[in-house]
Amino acid sequence: MAKMKALVCRECGKEYPTEAIHVCELCFGPLEVKYNYDEIKTKVSRQSIEAGPKSLWRYQDFLPIEGKPTVGLYAGFTPLVRAHNLGAYLGIDELYIKNDCVNHPTLSFKDRVVAVALTRARELGFETAACASTGNLANSVAAHAAQAGMQCYVFIPGDLEAAKVLGNLIYRPKVIEIEGTYDDVNRLCSEIAGERQWAFVNVNVRPYYAEGSKTLAYETAEQLGWRAPDQVVVPMASGSLLTKIWKGLNEFKTVGLLDAVNTKVNGAQAEGCSPIATAYKQGRDFFKPVKPSTIAKSLAIGNPADGYYALKTVAESGGAMDAVSDDEVVEGIKLLAQTEGIFAETAGGVTIGVLQKLAKQGLIKRDDVTVAYITGNGLKTQEAVVDSVGRPYRIPPSLAKFEQTFGQQGEA
Ligand SMILES: *Cc1c(COP(=O)(O)O)cnc(C)c1O
Repeated sequence: MAKMKALVCRECGKEYPTEAIHVCELCFGPLEVKYNYDEIKTKVSRQSIEAGPKSLWRYQDFLPIEGKPTVGLYAGFTPLVRAHNLGAYLGIDELYIKNDCVNHPTLSFKDRVVAVALTRARELGFETAACASTGNLANSVAAHAAQAGMQCYVFIPGDLEAAKVLGNLIYRPKVIEIEGTYDDVNRLCSEIAGERQWAFVNVNVRPYYAEGSKTLAYETAEQLGWRAPDQVVVPMASGSLLTKIWKGLNEFKTVGLLDAVNTKVNGAQAEGCSPIATAYKQGRDFFKPVKPSTIAKSLAIGNPADGYYALKTVAESGGAMDAVSDDEVVEGIKLLAQTEGIFAETAGGVTIGVLQKLAKQGLIKRDDVTVAYITGNGLKTQEAVVDSVGRPYRIPPSLAKFEQTFGQQGEA
């Protein structure tokens, strides 16, 4: 029997074949991949995983593909960094940064979801890859499509950072800027997906795409020495990543790779686009769509597809949600850079800002083993910090001038 059983509606439970479909025809609920865990259990062990490739494909048995991976062979297995300095500053003894700033090949966590989505898309016979993106997804789809020899169309909002626009064009896909927000982009892509036989990774192939996010949970557990953390802090755009970290940890428990999962899952957003965190704070289990206005553009989804499930996950795990201002996002980016030497993008500033708030409020305690997910690279969002980091010293190539500036002892 195959490990992938069916696609199943998250609302009414109706099952579908594992094709390129994403919405239930009965209740319009989202579809998700259902696995045969008894089958998976007989195939995997801690040893078999440890002997696997140094990429997310070491967890292939938990991913929704039938054959061998063909796209994104080097994505994942990024460092889990023990953050001694930041931990000391925040009063958390065992703090880790899961560093997807250095993911391969496009420096964000999206390389995980795209590796899985496009491997599956090719299995299903698609020749064209496409996506609706807040920035990082387009970069990753464009890069992977180039490598895989697929046609590629990426759709982005018209106000993205320069590096994220260039980070598409260099691979030569069709880049379509939409005069509107991500939510406008997404709506248009849903319409186009109905017309064209394309693999829109986060529309018609979304059930497979979303599974790639689970690998962040698997890696965390393995890199912690096969334990689940006590607390995780996860940035939210659509909310999908957060729900899949929870799914991944619980799958490891189901098949016996983890003894226990007592992880509190915490969600982070920017105040300028915080529909999910606002619903949490107001005690609602549904969110109200917003019009985004924040420097954290990668998280700027005003009508988040998985917002409802993110709220459910946080409630189920006993975690919390919070939001930070754009100034706090910048402070968070600088704090991580200056304590741990990691230059994250704005989403990372959101995560660090919320981590700091949760620690201050006592929701994350000193002895909680805590993992913060840093999902994108700061070189892609330079606009956010360029005006608040000062300028280099500029002197002629003269020892006298150097000493005049820095003093005989070399102190600045
Ligand atoms: C896409 C993205 C996320 C979160 O995505 P979800 O839609 O919530 O799964 C987080 N960080 C960065 C940098 C991203 O690009």
